[in-house]
Amino acid sequence: MRRPSLMVTEVAAGVHVLGSLRFNWYVVEQGGRFTVVDAGLPAHWAQLGALLEWFGEDLSSVEAVLLTHGHADHAGNAERIRDGCGASVYAHPADWPDVRSGRLPRPTAAQVLRLVRPSWLTFTVEMARGGAMRFPPVQELSELEDGAALDVPGRPRVVAVPGHTAGSCALHLPAGGVVFTGDALVTLNPAARAPVRRGPQLACDAFQEDAAQALASLARLEALDAHTVLPGHGEPWTGGVGEAVQRARALGRLP
Ligand SMILES: [Zn+2]
Ligand SMILES: [Zn+2]
Repeated sequence: MRRPSLMVTEVAAGVHVLGSLRFNWYVVEQGGRFTVVDAGLPAHWAQLGALLEWFGEDLSSVEAVLLTHGHADHAGNAERIRDGCGASVYAHPADWPDVRSGRLPRPTAAQVLRLVRPSWLTFTVEMARGGAMRFPPVQELSELEDGAALDVPGRPRVVAVPGHTAGSCALHLPAGGVVFTGDALVTLNPAARAPVRRGPQLACDAFQEDAAQALASLARLEALDAHTVLPGHGEPWTGGVGEAVQRARALGRLP
């Protein structure tokens, strides 16, 4: 079996990370079937095919794409997967307009002012190079409903964590002790004010639709039975989601 050219990293049993570390998406494998959690930047498309090939499978083995929220760096390849194999794409209805728009939400004037910082420039260039300014709008969507257990590989359970966006959801794999937190709880803020801090934290206020709500939503993650936190940005955290939430809370809202 040929290894893919990318470095494949199994970050938890049966869970592989794709992307660039600054931008993560994940693939959950169970018995040769796959759930894709977030859909990366368009530039990272080839990584999915390479990983499936490494398993001796192809796109037809993907059953579902679950989007933690509707931002372009998380939804970039969703339509391509759906169109390629008929997999259902799930997102919370509050974020459907973003997923269907095929473009980055336009920042408010206040956001632009706050975002004038060198790290933002680097981040924006990486987003733009990755194809985030435009991505194929998702034509058909299924609903991520708070509390639902989805009958797809990994049997993820949906935990609504609004704040970063109104439709932000975490996805909990109870059997694996894993939770995908999207941008509700990250371990790296690619556009933070220098110095860039690593470890569990909220996204910067400038990127939150409702920063106070994002802080409050951490309580929904705190009691989950999960030792591994897999965020939308940054490295995995394996010290337990409770500890991750405590650390993020201690840092509080970030400018
Ligand atoms: Zn986001
Ligand atoms: Zn993101």
